[in-house]
Amino acid sequence: MVRRIAVSVGHNPEDPGFKVSNVSEYSEMSVLVGMVVQKIQRVGHEAYHVGTGELEEKVDYINAIAPDCSIELHLNAGGGHGYETLHYPGSVQGKALAASVNSSVGLVLNSRNRGIKEGWYRMDRPGVEDYQGDVDGDENIDYFLAQTNCPAIIFEMYFLDNAEERAKYIGALSIFDAVAERIVVGILNPI
Ligand SMILES: [Zn+2]
Repeated sequence: MVRRIAVSVGHNPEDPGFKVSNVSEYSEMSVLVGMVVQKIQRVGHEAYHVGTGELEEKVDYINAIAPDCSIELHLNAGGGHGYETLHYPGSVQGKALAASVNSSVGLVLNSRNRGIKEGWYRMDRPGVEDYQGDVDGDENIDYFLAQTNCPAIIFEMYFLDNAEERAKYIGALSIFDAVAERIVVGILNPI
C-alpha cells in the first residue's frame, strides 16, 4: 500500500529559527528535507514537501492533504549535543513513530542519543520544574504536534549552538544523505 507522508522544514526563510552567522535551522534542514522527500518517492510512496510559510499555514496544508504521518525537521539549541525525536504527549502512534525514526538514525549518527520526548512547547513539562521559577499549569504542547491530525514527530538532528557539532555537520552532505535514508526507513519500516 502506498504511504503518504508530509515532510516539513522547521521555521521559514523570514524567521529561520536558531541561527549562527549565515547558517540557520531553516537553511540546514532545507537540504535534509529535499533528500527525505526524494528517498520516499524513489521507493514508490508519496511524499508531500510542506511549503515555507507560517507554522499555521503548514499545519493547515498537512491537515488538508491528510497524510498517514508527518515529520518536521529541526536543529536544537540551548547548550547540549546529540539528536532527539519529539512526539505528541500520550500519542501511542506518534510515540512509536518517534521511537522508530530515532533508533533508525542512531545507526548512522555517531552522537549522543537523547531519546524520544514528549513535545512540550519550550520543553516546559507539566508537574516538573524545568527551569528556575517554572510555574506549573502554563504548559502547552508544541503547535505542530498538537494541531496536525495525523501522527506527527519532530526530529532534532543536532545542536546548532554547539561548535563541535557545527564542525561535524554543516555542509556534511554524505551524513545528511545517510540520515535522510535512515529517517525514511524509520518511517516506512518501523524498527
Ligand atoms: Zn526549530
